[in-house]
Amino acid sequence: MVELKEFREIDLDQSPIVGLACGHFFTAETLDGMIGLSEVYETDPTTRVPLRLKDISCDLAPTIPQCPLCQRPIRQFVTQRYNRLVNRAVIYEVSKRFIATGQTELQELESRLTDIESKLQRTRAELLMGKAGHHLMDIHQADMKQSAQRLKTRYKPSACLRSDMVHFQQRTMHRH
Ligand SMILES: [Zn+2]
Repeated sequence: MVELKEFREIDLDQSPIVGLACGHFFTAETLDGMIGLSEVYETDPTTRVPLRLKDISCDLAPTIPQCPLCQRPIRQFVTQRYNRLVNRAVIYEVSKRFIATGQTELQELESRLTDIESKLQRTRAELLMGKAGHHLMDIHQADMKQSAQRLKTRYKPSACLRSDMVHFQQRTMHRH
């Protein structure tokens, strides 16, 4: 719960005040504690002055900090004090989306690969058996011509897939 106090009860030199865009005011100490400023800064235990940045690898999904009274999100251009917390949440969201899109694209490539694989196996068997089910040695001249044509185009889809994979890899690397 937020303890409500009158302004005149607060010594501003001792407890500076933070105003949020929603119009609610808090002592910095209260708000820092409620929205977890200590998760992103190492603070002096006695003075509570931020000393250095903490490594903010996100183990738990961080959310955009909110006003404890009205739950409106804290906006970074209005209250800069909590920018690092806001940024952490934003970066987390962006990377989550990035990973999700990447995975979808990867799955598409994977299913194309499976298709190509089975098609190559099928056409290999067909070529080896010839048209009428004869063995390769018995294939007639006409069949030879047809087979040569099929061999030529056989690897086209896999070459295409390979180039799409390279592009996907480059795009992912670039965006990352
Ligand atoms: Zn509020």
